[in-house]
Amino acid sequence: MTTTTGAVTVPFLDLRASTEEIRADLDTAMARVLDRGVYVLGPEVASFEAAWARYTDASDCVGVGTGLSAIELALRAVGVNPGDEVIVPSNTYIATWLAVTNIGAAVVPVEPEPSTYLLDARRVDEMVTPRTAAILPVHLYGQAVDMVGLSAVARHHGLPLVIDGAQAHGVRWEPWGLQPDATAWSFYPSKNLGALGDGGAVTTRRLDVAEQIRRFRNYGSTAKNVHEEIGTNSRLDELQAAVLGVKLAHLDDWNERRRRIAERYLAAIDPSVVTLPRVPADTMPVWHLFVVRSPHRDRLQKHLADRGVTTLVHYPIPPHRQSAYRGTALARANLPVAERLHREVLSLPLHPHMHPEDVEVVIDAVNGFADGVPAGA
Ligand SMILES: *Cc1c(COP(=O)(O)O)cnc(C)c1O
Repeated sequence: MTTTTGAVTVPFLDLRASTEEIRADLDTAMARVLDRGVYVLGPEVASFEAAWARYTDASDCVGVGTGLSAIELALRAVGVNPGDEVIVPSNTYIATWLAVTNIGAAVVPVEPEPSTYLLDARRVDEMVTPRTAAILPVHLYGQAVDMVGLSAVARHHGLPLVIDGAQAHGVRWEPWGLQPDATAWSFYPSKNLGALGDGGAVTTRRLDVAEQIRRFRNYGSTAKNVHEEIGTNSRLDELQAAVLGVKLAHLDDWNERRRRIAERYLAAIDPSVVTLPRVPADTMPVWHLFVVRSPHRDRLQKHLADRGVTTLVHYPIPPHRQSAYRGTALARANLPVAERLHREVLSLPLHPHMHPEDVEVVIDAVNGFADGVPAGA
């Protein structure tokens, strides 16, 4: 695409293109829901839950309304109560923190390993107290956390491990048998597996956790008019479940396309211009985002914008610096790694429907920034 100024415009994401690629199947699936006349907790949800459990190697999946509520319900189901502490990464999307805060528990932020941006198991171990009730790592940007290290810390302290998998549909690690107590998923449209609206799910190998969430999501009820506990209303709807069923069949292909673009970026972007993402050993990322770092991030972003390359910052303000936590002890937390990352990170365009020419435009534009950096700066 060419703008009036002649600059090439590379979009960050193209959701329309993914819809168009599978439009006929989406139309069929949605028509099936309209014709059946069942719109909440019907056969489409049951069928997607079974498919997503199979795909993630879980024994159970419970569809819920959003990713945020998936995290909240997973934490409650593994036994986190108001007043308990939950260990979370200091650098994440604020939803991870809000889930903890919303259920009345205390956020305990732990700094990431700076080269992977992922929760550091050794630091987690140091932050466990008698009040800790769960560890909540995030497969940030689609990169798998250190499951070996984090599972060992969780097991050592007898704590449940709940993963925020909102950015990591399809991620894999070795040994794969090492699975958390529960994983919370978001199906927000821009995620690797996205609905045409809001949606979420929790997958687990623990029957007790699945049963608990099945009650929580539907007013504390599994049988009509019988309410066993103080539940909520957080249900995946039939239309979104039908859409997700169609899209799931394309997830591996779409993740493979993301991987090919990431490999091209890793091979062709000059590592002296920006710090490239490091993929931890024994993991297969799904490149929800391709995040580079530069101490000159804002100038780099402008340089790229001038060349028609759309970039975003995930995220410009760390959760503890958000006004939401103003007046709490968290606002005064000393989290230099998170603050530095939030100042330096920049997400380059990367999505399954990206044109190969656009990938090269991005590479040339980033490499051209070398000239813009004053020596020694
Ligand atoms: C998107 C996201 C969420 C929240 O998902 P919603 O469906 O928008 O509620 C939670 N955690 C992370 C890391 C996310 O990226």
